[in-house]
Amino acid sequence: MADNKMSMSSLSDLKDARHVLGISGGKDSAALAIYIKDQYPDIHKKVEYFFTDTGAELKEIYDFLDKLEAHLGKEIIRLSSGKDFDYWLTMHNEYLPSAQQRWCTRMMKIKPFEEFVGDDLVVSYIGIRADENREGYISKKDTIKAVFPFIEDGLVRDDIFQILEDSVGIPEYYKWRSRSGCYFCFFQRQDEWLGLKRNHPELFEKARQFERRVRTKYDWKDGEIPINGHGYTWSSQGSIDELVAKAEKREKELGIIATNKKSSEKWQETLKTMMDDDPEDQACLVCSL
Ligand code: SF4
Repeated sequence: MADNKMSMSSLSDLKDARHVLGISGGKDSAALAIYIKDQYPDIHKKVEYFFTDTGAELKEIYDFLDKLEAHLGKEIIRLSSGKDFDYWLTMHNEYLPSAQQRWCTRMMKIKPFEEFVGDDLVVSYIGIRADENREGYISKKDTIKAVFPFIEDGLVRDDIFQILEDSVGIPEYYKWRSRSGCYFCFFQRQDEWLGLKRNHPELFEKARQFERRVRTKYDWKDGEIPINGHGYTWSSQGSIDELVAKAEKREKELGIIATNKKSSEKWQETLKTMMDDDPEDQACLVCSL
């Protein structure tokens, strides 16, 4: 294993280390916390569970965190950058974040985490499963060591669902969304934008207003001129109104609903058969694992 990864069996080598587990609000990190509590009670006693709040989370995430906190019997420490998204957007010249310009994760997730652990020697528990081919966020700091209990113990997707079904249940937003994270996350698919519009119209409207802000730049010839286009919409495919229109059109044509759920099927069952490992997800692991 590379230097900043280690195995569970070597944990005793790091006697003075802090143990931390980041809860994203998604299913895998929640299942990992529950798994640690049940299977590694000594680690559970010393682990610091934390959630990094961007201030742009869905209400369902907070509800799920409360449930999880009660089940774990331990506090989930809330971290934040101390500033809201608007502040960071202004600091980034009004450019909306994107997969290529992912300042949101850096400023609102990773920095607060690295400040939280400081220069302490830290073991960070990561919820990547044995049936996945991805790494998750591994800090470059030498003092932060990553361990992967699900991989080492051979837990796969079905095991994660079982752990959640037997404890806190599956987070509610999975009915219409395939990942946790900010309501305006640019990794959302067209049908997820439609899901946001239907389930949280006020948040959809807020996301829309970020796209519709009047932005100008100075031109020597013409003075202040408006700027728009890519960089000012959440997706390179167009505005979220356009994405929603496409999702609605497809829904009508195919006769499916936004979640792909058959009417006779429980959404929890549908979710188990849906893929969550597409290449785009790889980029969003720190937020949605
Ligand atoms: S959830 Fe999406 S928008 Fe929010 S910090 Fe992560 S990548 Fe950025």
